Amino acid sequence: MNRKMHKSCFVAILLSAIAIVAFGSTFFYWNRQNRTEEEFTIVTSFYPMYIAAENLTEGREGLVLKSLSEPQTGCLHDYQLTAADMKLLSTADVFVVNGGGIEEFLTDVAAQYPDLVIVDASQGLELLEDNGHAWMSVALHRQQLNNIARGLAEADPEYADLYRENYGIYDEKLKDLEQEQQEFAGDLAGEQIILFHEAYAYVARDYGMEVVYVMDLDEERQVSAGEVADVLRAIAEDDVKIVLAEEQYGKEMGDMVTRESDAKVYYLDTLVRGDYDKDSYLERMEANISIMRGLAK
Ligand SMILES: [Zn+2]
Repeated sequence: MNRKMHKSCFVAILLSAIAIVAFGSTFFYWNRQNRTEEEFTIVTSFYPMYIAAENLTEGREGLVLKSLSEPQTGCLHDYQLTAADMKLLSTADVFVVNGGGIEEFLTDVAAQYPDLVIVDASQGLELLEDNGHAWMSVALHRQQLNNIARGLAEADPEYADLYRENYGIYDEKLKDLEQEQQEFAGDLAGEQIILFHEAYAYVARDYGMEVVYVMDLDEERQVSAGEVADVLRAIAEDDVKIVLAEEQYGKEMGDMVTRESDAKVYYLDTLVRGDYDKDSYLERMEANISIMRGLAK
């Protein structure tokens, strides 16, 4: 090998070394970029869980957040899973549910997708019997947020700090709402009331009110003459002054009570329908609290 050959050989080796380093670092960079932008799919069962997840996941790059049901579906009692729902769940990394029996289809999902991480927001909560509407209590909803944040941190550890931080910020706001309630809860304690929606049993419990009759009007249905008589009898016998109802399905009965008795009907929001504004729960729970504050006076 002459000197000249030796020199060009050296240059070639040097150039390929540079190329390898350059390619290697580009590949490493691309890989890292790809990792931080990696998609993570969270599917929530229905509206209150979506709003909760929306607040907890803010800033999570590459997040795909979807709701199984439409924002106007409401509670999922008797909800039947569609083929599209099952397809959506097959893409999920995590499925966030309210639990407490609200998602009756859950056993089917767990059987179909044994590897799907299901975060049960109501795990460990002190629920009322056969009543999973826990989000109606701010105190319980704070625990739900805690459960969801923990579940997400476990399933997506790279962003565990973010979920914890978001939880802290959101929980401060929920804590304010809870304190607001406690300011006047004592004035309502022991008050006898009637409910036209079982979700409000959590409201009654939070304020220490005594529920004397519940008519569950959470869907369009015929109310029998016997039920109407029962409501009016309960109002008269227990001298009930307050009825809590829901606008959508309880208005007709509410009007009847206003016409036929001295009780007053107040319409609260069940917080199960709306747009995807992340402050929706805070704003509408605040409105509910204002109505309850009005009753305390
Ligand atoms: Zn319901």
